Amino acid sequence: MFEKIVIANRGEIALRIHRACHEMGIRTVAVHSTADANAMHVRLADESVCIGPPPTSESYLNVPNIIAAAEITGADAVHPGYGFLSENAQFADIVADHGIVFIGPTGDHIRLMGDKIKAKETAKSLGIPVVPGSEGGVTNPQEAGRLAEEMGYPVIVKAAAGGGGRGMKVVREAGELSEAFSAARTEAKAAFGDDTVYVEKFLANPRHIEIQVLGDSHGNAVHLGERDCSLQRRHQKILEEAPSPVITDEQREEIGGVVAKAVRGMGYLGAGTVEFLYEDGEFYFIEMNTRLQVEHPVTEMITDMDLVRMQIRIAAGEPLPVTQEDIRFSGHAIECRINAEDPATFAPSPGRITDYHPPGGLDVRVDSALYSGYSVPPYYDSLISKLIVRGNTRDGCLLRLRRALEEYVIGGIKTTIPLHQELIEDSDFIGSQYNIHWLEDWLRRANS
Ligand code: ADP
Repeated sequence: MFEKIVIANRGEIALRIHRACHEMGIRTVAVHSTADANAMHVRLADESVCIGPPPTSESYLNVPNIIAAAEITGADAVHPGYGFLSENAQFADIVADHGIVFIGPTGDHIRLMGDKIKAKETAKSLGIPVVPGSEGGVTNPQEAGRLAEEMGYPVIVKAAAGGGGRGMKVVREAGELSEAFSAARTEAKAAFGDDTVYVEKFLANPRHIEIQVLGDSHGNAVHLGERDCSLQRRHQKILEEAPSPVITDEQREEIGGVVAKAVRGMGYLGAGTVEFLYEDGEFYFIEMNTRLQVEHPVTEMITDMDLVRMQIRIAAGEPLPVTQEDIRFSGHAIECRINAEDPATFAPSPGRITDYHPPGGLDVRVDSALYSGYSVPPYYDSLISKLIVRGNTRDGCLLRLRRALEEYVIGGIKTTIPLHQELIEDSDFIGSQYNIHWLEDWLRRANS
């Protein structure tokens, strides 16, 4: 097992990884920007190294400085968390070239899944159902038009190198195609330096359902069921739950089995998430994330497994300690992402936390690096806390969540707690009558 791990991240996820390491008897090295010198993960880590000024390009994305930090401290592994360098294949390769273990899949697997066309081809070849669409890239609007006529409108033009919802254009009718096609290419070129695009059927009212998987270096892979992440604003998830209220045990077993088999077939290492759109009883692959997800705790709450511990054990060459039959799902969990933002306008609200009182009690988990007197810096993602609550049933979980949100005090800045409080009182939400477009409509209604 590793003796010392560099945590190449910040905020709640850096703390989350630190906690897993310390429970395993592994020492931690925090790397941080000058803006994060007083951050909780820096305070709790065994050692810390300042890797640069506040801008992420000069600190949390600064590969030479992170490698230097690992070398100076004699660390044997690097955990990238999510975001930042977590899906950067070149970083994974560089870490490995320095004789340090990257806690995640190989650079080649990250590269493969980072190209959405290749990812989709791979998924399809491994028996995973995909959204109907073009075979590979589409180079001209005439070809896109022919495919769209075949599939039927609406269609969506997507960037092969896409991420964060950029380089995507929905086309409702033939007349819009040519313009949308060039707009998607231009946006893709600007955002990713690659203007390769592809075309697929646009699903009108799907839910976003993703399957958590783990693969080890001994040829084993398991799935840990699904998460329903359909509540999104601008393609960003706001609230996630597990299990999905619309998936049956039989469906879970079936799609989970297909995904675990595919992951085994690829020889994939570590934790990964296969994302699907789900409509009318059918799953359609959209992408695979080759890292730990923000919303991983809902899975942990209902499976009683520590995903970060699993990642570390797998990276250290150990076999998975469980088989598929050992994995049991118990109860229901919901995560609310709490951002330092105005709950009505979503304008960022950084600043000093004057009072801090997190909720507690049975089955209430708060993943946050906040403390009283801490100043939320203006330079980074506005996620400041994740409140995760479990109940024996979805209704029980909602009652507990309502109580926990009521208790949560974050003074001095604006947060999205009031938004969650309103959201969980909505009858559509309570009845799980929602899809990926529902939240945006709800927000429009709330603001009009
Ligand atoms: P990104 O990597 O940019 O997040 P994804 O392929 O994961 O892109 O898609 C992001 C979101 O865009 C999905 O969660 C869904 O809301 C929407 N989307 C993507 N493809 C389709 C599709 N074929 N039909 C309908 N919505 C889609």
